[in-house]
Amino acid sequence: MRRLEDRVAIITGGASGIGKATLERFVSEGAKVVVADFDITSALKVASDFGALAIETDVADPASVDAMVGQVIDRFGRIDIAFNNAGISPPDDDSILDTSIDAYQRVQDVNLKSVFLCCKAVLPHMLAAKKGSIINTASFVATLGAATSQISYTASKGGVLAMTRELGVQFARSGVRVNAISPGPINTPLLQELFAKDPERAQRRLVHIPMGRFGEASEVAAAVAFLASDDASFMTASNFLVDGGLTGAYVTPL
Ligand code: NAD
Repeated sequence: MRRLEDRVAIITGGASGIGKATLERFVSEGAKVVVADFDITSALKVASDFGALAIETDVADPASVDAMVGQVIDRFGRIDIAFNNAGISPPDDDSILDTSIDAYQRVQDVNLKSVFLCCKAVLPHMLAAKKGSIINTASFVATLGAATSQISYTASKGGVLAMTRELGVQFARSGVRVNAISPGPINTPLLQELFAKDPERAQRRLVHIPMGRFGEASEVAAAVAFLASDDASFMTASNFLVDGGLTGAYVTPL
């Protein structure tokens, strides 16, 4: 499928995990992709592997985001797709009883303020063109509570979901669609490292997933490509769950 032929797409956090899988998918569907990532070494590597452009960006910093979007406009003249995906999940964000205000704020800045900044920077260009698709990465924890808390992460993703819904509704008649994607637990290097060491912790989570497995980054990328494309022309302000049935489940199959 070449649903994204010649579309200009920005992927924040495109150097790793879900962002990298989406880069691969977007390129295979014909898009011109910009990888905006903090980790410029990895961003340059994946950009050269997939024929994309890498721009060093700190999504939590307004000047850095504005400079990145300015460079994309200078280079391509437009932005058709913004996948606001960069996020962190650090170990010092834990139970509310143990999480410091610094740790709380760092996660809010990278996961939620970043989505505000990136949407604010691309929207004027999309509104002027009367078209565009923004996809913001939330998470299943925006919808479900976990006793294994990462309190700031969860709150940040709830914020991403609410912000996305509001932007989707506000701009619904402008040609610009704004949707959230909510992945379930995905088999990224981080998750593998966490659970390979501790199968009991993995099992505690797997029992809640009807499909009985973690998702793959490519499965999230396929859903993002759909939301980015005209196939999703009647979708905006939605929470698109890619979670193996997790949020729909009470009792899962044996
Ligand atoms: P990852 O750690 O593999 O990739 C995240 C990327 O974001 C990295 O390339 C990193 O360099 C970049 N990044 C971090 N801070 C940045 C900053 N300040 N500025 C620019 N780039 C920055 O993570 P992933 O697992 O692919 O997750 C991607 C998104 O999906 C995140 O928003 C995450 O919260 C969300 N998510 C992941 C899962 C999962 O199970 N992996 C589940 C639900 C939601």
